[in-house]
Amino acid sequence: MKKLIVANWKMNPMSLASAKLIFNALEKGAKKFSKQSEVVVCSPAVYLFSLAGKQIKLGGQNMFYEDSGAFTGEISPAMLKNSKCQYVIIGHSERRGYFNETDETVNKKIKGAIAHKITPILCVGETASEKKQGKTKEVLKRQVLAALKAVPQKKVKTSGLCVAYEPRWAIGTGDACPTTEAQTIKILLEKIIAQKYSRPLSQKMRFLYGGSVNGDNAQDFIQEAKFQGLLIGGASLKPAEFIRIIKKAV
Ligand code: PEP
Repeated sequence: MKKLIVANWKMNPMSLASAKLIFNALEKGAKKFSKQSEVVVCSPAVYLFSLAGKQIKLGGQNMFYEDSGAFTGEISPAMLKNSKCQYVIIGHSERRGYFNETDETVNKKIKGAIAHKITPILCVGETASEKKQGKTKEVLKRQVLAALKAVPQKKVKTSGLCVAYEPRWAIGTGDACPTTEAQTIKILLEKIIAQKYSRPLSQKMRFLYGGSVNGDNAQDFIQEAKFQGLLIGGASLKPAEFIRIIKKAV
């Protein structure tokens, strides 16, 4: 299975010229690892139409669930699809934390993405205070089951849906999750999917880790914690570091 390496540029960079510069550098660097990795750049929507590569696929960072209509400021699944996006991040902790994303809207967005044949990258993760209270497992179970409510196994399978474990306290902090802890969570997520659907589906699904990944720790999450991919924020804007991550992950 190819390793799925996803770049989340968040609200960066500031101009199309910079976006193209970073994208082209990533495209060039990723070429060497194209047999062992699938690389996706989730850029701000305004740049999507202007970015194109052979190695790198495109993804959205968020979307609304309706197809079209009076929803000022929103982007629909069909729009992402028409902008050549094959992936979309759903339920990122910054959406949940700053923009009132709920388990219910995450569920609607997952269904919307699947209906438009866009592969959802479902993000789940506990906050620092939930972790402190010993609620990690409970939170993750709730988030996964709510996101996949009334989504049939066949649709999960054909869409290629991935689950990204992104502990909120590890995002953008430089404080990545310890490998053994991440491995326990990976096993838990597999179990949740196996219990809801089936073991074969959980074995085929790609689980990603995200949260302060860099060139020094990337390998641990793949080799030791056994994740099938990585979701990378800050480091994905630095081409040399991002390529180092891919190299360590494959
Ligand atoms: C993210 O935004 O999904 C993320 C993992 O960010 P960072 O790599 O900067 O922690």
